[in-house]
Amino acid sequence: MASITFDRVTKRYDNGFTAVRDLSLAVADREFLVLVGPSGCGKTTSLRMLAGLEDITQGKLYINDRCINEVPAKNRDIAMVFQSYALYPHMTVFDNMAFSLSLQGVPKAEIQTRVRQAAQQLDIEALLDRKPKQLSGGQRQRVAVGRAIVRDPAVFLMDEPLSNLDAKLRVQARAELSKLHRQLGTTFVYVTHDQVEAMTMGTRIAVMNQGVLQQVASPQELYDSPSNTFVAGFMGSPAMNFLPARVVSAEQGWGIQTATLALPVPLTLADRVQPYGDREIILGLRPESLYDPDHRPANRTLIAVPIAVTVVERMGNEAIIYGTLQDGQEIVARVDPRCQFQVGEAVELGLDVDRVYLFDPTTGQAI
Ligand code: ATP
Repeated sequence: MASITFDRVTKRYDNGFTAVRDLSLAVADREFLVLVGPSGCGKTTSLRMLAGLEDITQGKLYINDRCINEVPAKNRDIAMVFQSYALYPHMTVFDNMAFSLSLQGVPKAEIQTRVRQAAQQLDIEALLDRKPKQLSGGQRQRVAVGRAIVRDPAVFLMDEPLSNLDAKLRVQARAELSKLHRQLGTTFVYVTHDQVEAMTMGTRIAVMNQGVLQQVASPQELYDSPSNTFVAGFMGSPAMNFLPARVVSAEQGWGIQTATLALPVPLTLADRVQPYGDREIILGLRPESLYDPDHRPANRTLIAVPIAVTVVERMGNEAIIYGTLQDGQEIVARVDPRCQFQVGEAVELGLDVDRVYLFDPTTGQAI
């Protein structure tokens, strides 16, 4: 049982740089919480404070009800898997996995049992006598996870553990870690800059930018209802399109006008858009809300978005269309793979008017 609470935690390094600012975040027992954000946003620093590898400048950190600010790393009942794996090169896989247990004085027979159990769970039993240099990247990654598992910690911390794997292996390892999380029933805090990893593995995702927590939510909620332009632009690939726009009077209530498009305000946003009447806003369009009109969903209201096609990426299961609007603004759409658009062609995409996002241009907050 381990819940984690960051209570207004700040980290200022000795050079005066604030890497994490006023972080408040509660991780529930057994949760798989992913900390995600671009390089330098403070996610590793947050994890290292939790692990006890970095002092906390301000605020309090709790595991369950116990404040751990002053508790040494070795007494926190936490195991961490590093991006580099940090395996001891001169030791066998078995010894790497057994090392921390030996240090704790765990009896030899029990070490044998725990290492073998973990090796079985990770399908690396056949590798126990090898040295790390005799392993593939994927196998090393499993050993690093195995070394954490044998300790049976209350909390697992993982810092980009899959970033050294090739794309295919990473997909496989993602699924394995999710399965492991369910099997172990332990709290996981996982750091990555990869939004796909965050979306696929996290029960909840905490998005950070420049040391500041932006939003914490389930993957779907984060995608469907981003709280600001940063989260909206970070989660989703290709990223959301942002167009400068204005809220204008329309026949019924308010409409949205960009340099080249006029569309109604979705009913769901009608009330919230009131204070923005006659003001600038930012219009956000997910690439998948723009359709090839020949392969459009039924029962949706689409408006025409004329573009000049600049790039067509055929992915097999979908086509990514890059183009420019009449004012030169770039736009990207994810459409049906049967789409016949050609580079250089002037075409019309269909925008689902009920699937648009509106943001305040000053604060970046969702309207
Ligand atoms: P990455 O994905 O690149 O590891 P991150 O989000 O994990 O990025 P951190 O490693 O937490 O980022 O670093 C956050 C900020 O703090 C960065 O700007 C980094 O340069 C700075 N930083 C990290 N360690 C120190 C240090 N010891 N002294 C001063 N600044 C530091």
